[in-house]
Amino acid sequence: MTSDTYRALPLLIDGSLSYAAEGGVFENIDPATEEVLGTTADAGPRDMDRAIAAARRAFDETPWPTDLAFRVHCLRQLRAGLERHADELRRTIVAEAGSPVTLTHGPQLDAPVAGLGWCADLAESYAWETDLGVAAPLGVPTRRVLRREPYGVVGAITPWNFPMQITLAKVGPALAAGNTVVLKPAPDTPWTAAILGRIAAEETDLPPGVLNVVVGSAHGLGAQLAADPRVDLVSFTGSTATGRAVMRSGADTLKKVFLELGGKSALLALDDADLATVVGNAAFQITTHAGQGCSLLTRLVLPRARYDEGVELLVETLRNWPYGDPADPGTLMGPLISERQRRRVLGYVARGLAEGATVALGGGIPAHLPRGYFVEPTVLTGVTPAATVAREEIFGPVLTVLAHDGDDDAVRIANDSVYGLSGMVVSASEERARAVAERVRTGTISINGGLYYGADVPFGGYRQSGVGRESGRAGFEEYLEIKAMAYAH
Ligand code: NAD
Repeated sequence: MTSDTYRALPLLIDGSLSYAAEGGVFENIDPATEEVLGTTADAGPRDMDRAIAAARRAFDETPWPTDLAFRVHCLRQLRAGLERHADELRRTIVAEAGSPVTLTHGPQLDAPVAGLGWCADLAESYAWETDLGVAAPLGVPTRRVLRREPYGVVGAITPWNFPMQITLAKVGPALAAGNTVVLKPAPDTPWTAAILGRIAAEETDLPPGVLNVVVGSAHGLGAQLAADPRVDLVSFTGSTATGRAVMRSGADTLKKVFLELGGKSALLALDDADLATVVGNAAFQITTHAGQGCSLLTRLVLPRARYDEGVELLVETLRNWPYGDPADPGTLMGPLISERQRRRVLGYVARGLAEGATVALGGGIPAHLPRGYFVEPTVLTGVTPAATVAREEIFGPVLTVLAHDGDDDAVRIANDSVYGLSGMVVSASEERARAVAERVRTGTISINGGLYYGADVPFGGYRQSGVGRESGRAGFEEYLEIKAMAYAH
């Protein structure tokens, strides 16, 4: 099948690649050029209904949930297929997500594809049963065994910013655990998901219905998936506002809802910190995929006495930051995903100014990039913890810089947020940084620039940044029920 055909046939339902039942199509836009890359099938409620029915049937009526060796074989085939098509995927992620190509050699593509292998190995070596030994509850001698079983049908709903990474972080463990999956990708990045569906259909032995991909422009498809009584678990990554809606949709059927949401993570520089380390990390984080990452550090909290020095170094560093064409390997920052998102980001800058902040760098559309949804790397100073730009997720290359008056105050500022996804502490003393890191209420935290990212590391948020963990053993276990079995002894 040629690339053009699968782009027209992006749905994978019950083992077949197909058009949308109603025949609809929608446009896929390149955010770096604003050009239409092509059209893609626009699934509707009937397609989603068929996909859920297929996933239900595959779970209830085939050996998939119990045949571990076959599942591991299929996951390894999927990994090999994705590796064979790495170049096509790389080009697609750059074109439709606007991601710098350098990121596809890490978290946008190569790392999560390799992570499928880790997931298959984990499933193979996992202790699916635990013997609790013999006891005599109420005087009845009993041998107790805990058995792990898949939930059933998993609805996976994903955002556009890391389209392959987030998809595989759900599909990998969900399938390895024995569930069947209906994937509903974000409308902004339909082809990455379509390629995954095509490879699953053509290059693996995954049985019909085990993995379904339903690409469509309507967010209502996600709501339909979350509400459907045939779905047992919803695994969602996206904004906190949508996460609330997903939880509400799942409430009527009391399904398990697993949520990876937004963040407003803080980089805390303690008063003995090396400012070059602080600024290097801050600049890299705020420009990574143009700030469109949930766990990026978007609040820089400097010691008050070193605030001006830190801001000066930061502005100097970011002034010549290489950004523009995401396909250029020298580019560290591409565009935002859409004009809507750009308006939103510039709206936040305006709000920051209205609330008393100063633009120390950027703040607008770069003059040298008239096409594409670019925003300049932006530094807002004089920001108080109460300001909107210090509290809400901007999802753009906008760093807010705050001041602290010592370690306790830094911790207070970091925790003064509805979010709790990530953070970083920088200090000349690892021990001191560690003591502060322990008090920051987030699911991940870096000490002096360490990276927690990896298939074996659980990732997720405290408070309104999410419920549950993705990746690692903990992420795998999100997709498993526990059954306690009691044998008369
Ligand atoms: P979004 O919440 O707008 O959409 C995410 C997905 O949900 C899309 O597939 C969308 O079609 C679907 N959707 C929208 N409304 C829905 C509804 N009512 N019911 C069910 N599904 C619905 O998010 P986005 O703009 O695509 O992504 C950006 C957001 O994702 C940011 O807030 C970011 O912080 C967050 N994010 C979180 C993580 C994490 O792991 N914590 C990772 C990446 C992105």
